[in-house]
Amino acid sequence: MNTLLRKPCVAANWKMQGSFDKIEVFLGFLAKNPAILQALEVIFCPPAVYLDVTRRRIAGEEALQALKLAAQNTYCEQTGAFTGEISPAMIKEVGCHYVLLGHSERRHLLGEDDTLIARKAVAAYHAGLVPILCVGETAEERAAGRTIEVISRQLEAVFQVLPWETFKTGIIAYEPVWAIGTGVASASKDAEVVHTTIRAWLSQYDEGFARELRILYGGSVKAENAKGLFTEENIDGALVGNASLQAETFLNICQCAIEVASLQLN
Ligand code: PEP
Repeated sequence: MNTLLRKPCVAANWKMQGSFDKIEVFLGFLAKNPAILQALEVIFCPPAVYLDVTRRRIAGEEALQALKLAAQNTYCEQTGAFTGEISPAMIKEVGCHYVLLGHSERRHLLGEDDTLIARKAVAAYHAGLVPILCVGETAEERAAGRTIEVISRQLEAVFQVLPWETFKTGIIAYEPVWAIGTGVASASKDAEVVHTTIRAWLSQYDEGFARELRILYGGSVKAENAKGLFTEENIDGALVGNASLQAETFLNICQCAIEVASLQLN
């Protein structure tokens, strides 16, 4: 049987949006489409206050068992006097497998720097969580031709403090800041150039590691552009914001990933 080197993955990042009712509708929709959860790795990142209820809902429904839960953020310590923060150990306890780290909204709106993100990555692994590490350049950095320099710096900060072997289970999400929430996605070919460069960068540690690590694209992904992106050799799926808020739209994107994967297998 043919298998893909990297299982396609589509993640829904709801950011600071949603409610109990909306999550129930979303999960209900997914439960009616269990084949999608088998063909792909599907990850749901609701706001932290809804993680526990989502975990219970997943545990209680056979068709949802394969859905992976992710937090949108965590802190770099496991416990202590850090008012308002949520530790990786807590995130793990409420059923998360993954945690988003370094999302551009956290870097640029909430002031997180490379060092803090790297500390969070280490703390996440200590608690048994797997990071989805987001990297990406701003419009100004892109215009100045600094995309690769910026992404390399963001990656370097994490890989300096975390052995590459530890990150074998991790995921990288390339999310150009100028494409997030703007409706203007990167052209597939342009994104592929960056993904290829990230893979080449990772190969300094180990060729197999670089070949097998999944690199998602994020930034205004919708059903209309998903297939083009997923067809690129080094794009292994998507981190989806706005278009994941409607279950039907999100499932259409997942369907694109399945179609592309089945073409690659044949
Ligand atoms: C995101 O939040 O990671 C994202 C890519 O958002 P959007 O799809 O809305 O651009």
